[in-house]
Amino acid sequence: MSIKVLVVDDQEDNIELLSQMLEENGIEAITTQSGRDAITLARAEMPDVILLDIQMPDIDGYEICRRLKEEEKTRSIPVIFLTAIYSSEKNIVKGLELGAYDYITKPFREGELLARINVMAKIKQTEDNVREESYTDALTGLYNRRFLEKRFAEEISRSLRTNLPLACLMLDIDHFKSHNDLYGHECGDAVLKKVADTMRHALRAYDTVARYGGEEFVIILPSTEYHDAECVAEKIRRTVEKMALQANGQTVFITVSVGVFCAKGEELRQGIDEFIRKADEALYKAKGMGRNKIVSYRDIYPE
Ligand code: GH3
Ligand code: MG
Ligand code: MG
Repeated sequence: MSIKVLVVDDQEDNIELLSQMLEENGIEAITTQSGRDAITLARAEMPDVILLDIQMPDIDGYEICRRLKEEEKTRSIPVIFLTAIYSSEKNIVKGLELGAYDYITKPFREGELLARINVMAKIKQTEDNVREESYTDALTGLYNRRFLEKRFAEEISRSLRTNLPLACLMLDIDHFKSHNDLYGHECGDAVLKKVADTMRHALRAYDTVARYGGEEFVIILPSTEYHDAECVAEKIRRTVEKMALQANGQTVFITVSVGVFCAKGEELRQGIDEFIRKADEALYKAKGMGRNKIVSYRDIYPE
């Protein structure tokens, strides 16, 4: 495992000493003498560990740590405070309470510092894995419902800020129960994976697709109007319809139904549950119309 460390210290000799020590031990070191740059660098470089001096002229280490912990992206990076030998217990506790994982007093012993960095990097790796697993659906590899709700909230506030539309698709496999009954649960699982891949391929990098329930999926399309959301839904519907699947030596076909809902401006304030409910209402309509269809909420309730 290669480790990348961000070293933040206002003293040039400290920086030199530390980066040399790290590089000699096969650890990549990025350095800065400015507190302000530390935050920008952390965001851009996503180091495995940050070594943070407390006394800095522009922003002190406590404040940098507080800001790093405030930001979603940088929150999980372990921070080790570098403190002077005369640091009081109170200050050390303050650092730890701000979310630092550890502290080390200057002048540091090389072996101890390296050991602590290695431990922190390992903890981060484990935490990253756990976080990823807790947001992923094991069968399809798509995001799960928990992640969807988190991302949905972020996309709603972003769309409010940028004043761009936000679209949501709700997709459900048609007659999936019969498919399972006819060909078995394992074939059903293979179908779920195929449909997941189809959706992934049809979407842009910043769209989000999640498994919402058994054979139901939700897709969030940022900066997308009704018209484009309907095109995406139609593209997925058509691709799935054409897919020839092998089940117990037979070629079988499946179809999906999709509900589309799109909101913009003040309408975005209605919240996630309402958003999904409306996409689901459109989906329900598509089922009622015979399945293998897409229906837009705006078709049911024209503005
Ligand atoms: P409709 O067209 O109205 O959506 O009918 P349907 O049969 O697809 O809907 P229903 O909700 O009655 O059945 C959903 C089925 O999906 C039942 C359940 O066994 C199956 N299912 C849910 N999760 C999984 C899974 O992980 N693997 C497999 N193979 N089947 C699943
Ligand atoms: Mg279904
Ligand atoms: Mg269903």
